[in-house]
Amino acid sequence: MQYTEVMVRYGELSTKGKNRKDFIGRLAGNITRVLKDFPEIEIHPKHDRLHIVLNGAPFEEIDQRLKKVFGIQTYSPTIKVEKNIEAIKKTALELMQATFEDGMTFKVNTRRSDHEFEYDTNQLNKMIGDHLFDNMDNLKVQMKKPDMVLRIEVRQDGVYISNQLIKGAGGMPVGTAGKAVMMLSGGIDSPVASYLALKRGVDIEMVHFFSPPYTTDKALAKAKELAGILANYSGKINFIAVPFAEIQEQIKEKLPEGYLMTVQRRFMLQLADRIREMRGGLAIFNGESVGQVASQTLESMVAINDVTTTPVLRPVATMDKTEIIRLAEEIGTFDLSIKPFEDCCTIFAPPRPKTKPKLKDARKFEDRLDVEGLIQRALDGIEVTTIRPNETFLDDQAQIDMNLL
Ligand code: ATP
Ligand code: MG
Repeated sequence: MQYTEVMVRYGELSTKGKNRKDFIGRLAGNITRVLKDFPEIEIHPKHDRLHIVLNGAPFEEIDQRLKKVFGIQTYSPTIKVEKNIEAIKKTALELMQATFEDGMTFKVNTRRSDHEFEYDTNQLNKMIGDHLFDNMDNLKVQMKKPDMVLRIEVRQDGVYISNQLIKGAGGMPVGTAGKAVMMLSGGIDSPVASYLALKRGVDIEMVHFFSPPYTTDKALAKAKELAGILANYSGKINFIAVPFAEIQEQIKEKLPEGYLMTVQRRFMLQLADRIREMRGGLAIFNGESVGQVASQTLESMVAINDVTTTPVLRPVATMDKTEIIRLAEEIGTFDLSIKPFEDCCTIFAPPRPKTKPKLKDARKFEDRLDVEGLIQRALDGIEVTTIRPNETFLDDQAQIDMNLL
């Protein structure tokens, strides 16, 4: 059965009053971007729906991409036919024969926005239902929660027939909520936090701290590859790698062990904030979850957050680790996150970080360092890469290692 169009429904967008135009425009742009390797496709955003005209493109592949576009509540592959009853009957029957399985229940649901059409919805339901019963065995109608709803929409420009209602990713189109930076490590939590930020329409750029020679190329490659998985939800993602070794060496040399972690985190947040400012972002996101580790107690957050007044948003703050892991599995980042390439925090983690650091002491110890000089040198060393959906970095690395042998 060849579907001719996909009908996309907006959900939350519809309630957004005057911003609606911007939302629909962004969504159309984001859909165009994820489908750009199907040049035959046409995208028509309307005020209540968006139509994707397939022109022969395979729905199965389009389906995989649409599932990851935020701002879509539901969508249906449909077949458009002319406004005559014989054409409707014929296609409805073909679609049912191709997809209906024994034991299922169904109903016909007709809508009519063209009131000039010669039959009303009751007549249409009956005529189509009768036609199906005349030509198929074992059909069972059920009005409440049937397994399949055969939807027939009579519109001005034609009749749309569909029997699937697919749940979209929900949320808001990426870009509608503005720009922000995301602190992405190689762990489990920050990729999930990234997904949740994108889901609310925030266009994020990844900030990643790495510490060569203490951390390997693999740790950096892993973080980039995680960004590649997340890029499925945004079309592409900028990845900003920030050299962090000098700062860590200085902290380790000059500060008491109990404050290594707190002051490292203060530097990370300051750097993230400076990068945010340079790149026109409005907020900082990270993957902290209250109480998960020493740096994520409320006391620690007070001592760390002190370096900025920029909103620091923590999408997974209140989630249990098991809930975060479940989401990580769902979005496909978990298996990569648990690969054991140690990042900069693991290498310089003190054995006993303070779980209740004091803000006053954190400031006092930090004053032993040339904060501005360290920050400036780290900023001078940043490298920005644009990462595409599913771009891989670890495999390339494995390839290089093989070649060296
Ligand atoms: P994650 O699973 O996200 O790594 P975690 O449980 O390992 O989190 P931490 O290592 O304490 O927790 O980090 C807390 C947050 O700080 C991370 O979620 C991330 O937002 C940020 N962060 C930690 N390390 C880095 C890094 N190397 N680069 C960028 N951000 C980082
Ligand atoms: Mg981590």
